[in-house]
Amino acid sequence: MARLGGYDRSMGRTLFDKVWDLHAVRDLPGGATQLYVGLHLIHEVTSPQAFAELRARGLPVRRPDRTFATVDHIIPTDARRRPFADAAAEEMFQALERNVAECGITFLAPESGRQGIVHVVGPELGLTQPGMTIACGDSHTSTHGAFGAIAFGIGTSQIRDILATQTISLVRPRIRRIRVEGRLARGVCAKDVILAIIRTLGVKGGIGYAYEYAGPVVERFSVEERLTLTNMSIEGGARFGFINPDETIFVYLRGRPYTPQGPAFERAVAWWRSIASDPGARYDDHVSFDGGRLEPMLTWGITPAQSVRVTEGIPDPRALPQEEAASAAEALAYMEFRPGEKLLGKKIDVAFVGSCTNGRLSDLEEAARILKGRRVAPGVRALIVPGSEAVERAAHEAGLDEVFLAAGCQWRRPGCSMCLAMNPDRLSGNELCASSTNRNFKGRQGSPTGRTLLMSPAMVAAAAVEGRIVDVREYLG
Ligand code: SF4
Repeated sequence: MARLGGYDRSMGRTLFDKVWDLHAVRDLPGGATQLYVGLHLIHEVTSPQAFAELRARGLPVRRPDRTFATVDHIIPTDARRRPFADAAAEEMFQALERNVAECGITFLAPESGRQGIVHVVGPELGLTQPGMTIACGDSHTSTHGAFGAIAFGIGTSQIRDILATQTISLVRPRIRRIRVEGRLARGVCAKDVILAIIRTLGVKGGIGYAYEYAGPVVERFSVEERLTLTNMSIEGGARFGFINPDETIFVYLRGRPYTPQGPAFERAVAWWRSIASDPGARYDDHVSFDGGRLEPMLTWGITPAQSVRVTEGIPDPRALPQEEAASAAEALAYMEFRPGEKLLGKKIDVAFVGSCTNGRLSDLEEAARILKGRRVAPGVRALIVPGSEAVERAAHEAGLDEVFLAAGCQWRRPGCSMCLAMNPDRLSGNELCASSTNRNFKGRQGSPTGRTLLMSPAMVAAAAVEGRIVDVREYLG
């Protein structure tokens, strides 16, 4: 019986177990594994301290060729003039420029045509590939698992460790298979699926787990829809989320700048196929959802699990299990909502389409479909922020920017923008924002009293037009 890290290799294996075993350097005392990291993505916010520690110890970057940098969190999305008005942002940018230049790391710099949110540029450049281990100092690194990779967020000390050794100490998680059966109804999309999953399993339900998403709904999803799903794994507590690679992924990857070319691509596809979970693979847990019963979703509270179907009322904390009641009461007070109240018809102040969850071309297309020939309601500030320079370019070529501008939206340059508000894009006061992002925590969008409603890009666009929350299905006929 072959065992590694306590795992019985003679049984059918999941993709996660195969990729883990291929990257395992050795078992460490205490149950962790030293794991080789195939791709290390870095950005300006979490890397400066790691480089400083490396320098203090006189250590070089072990694999600069497997390390790629971009700038996303702090970059302004209106004027990108240097130096940035925000001195802290300018300092972080300069530190990144200096570090990548000194260490020989490829920098996907602004105006290179390749800059963007780290979880958008990795896939679109073909850096993200099936069977890889991928780390980044950002919790939404689970996004890259959509390609069949083990992808995970790390902290500053782990960035330092990977820079120095290209390895990391990690404990193998349990695997939960989440199948989404049936067929989604019109107007229901990947964002609704993941919000429904998180609502059911909770924000802590995935702690200690990697989520494997499967089933006919997931298999029919485009690559960009899959990325929305895996992106929010961490919002359900799962540090890792993955999907078995298939033709959809292979077609997407062919010809990307960093994917193997020519015969090497065919060999890669053969290998990528072989790492998919075996039909008889053993899972630690199984959950299934009936996709046909799902409806457009949106959050009402201060965690991504505090969501409802668009037609449903906000729950009464007194009717919830004890462990959820206190958080629900706190959320209602913060959001200024009442139990039983419906979000339909609720007036919004801001509409935001963007982020690593929903800032890709198909997300912008969905928003444009709603906004075309319509106007943003008076008093609503609507921002559309492409996830990358490539998305920005493609949207321009498709005329989407014209649609947004004609509708009265602000069409911005690529970056994280109002997802986190580490740049000038932020809510003010207690503004209510319909947002295509992934976190609705208190103050997340830059104002300590700002309020966020998470939903799909199409729902955001419909809310922008009406000036209030609407059921996007009304717009689809
Ligand atoms: S878009 Fe938001 S969640 Fe994604 S990397 Fe940027 S700040 Fe983080």
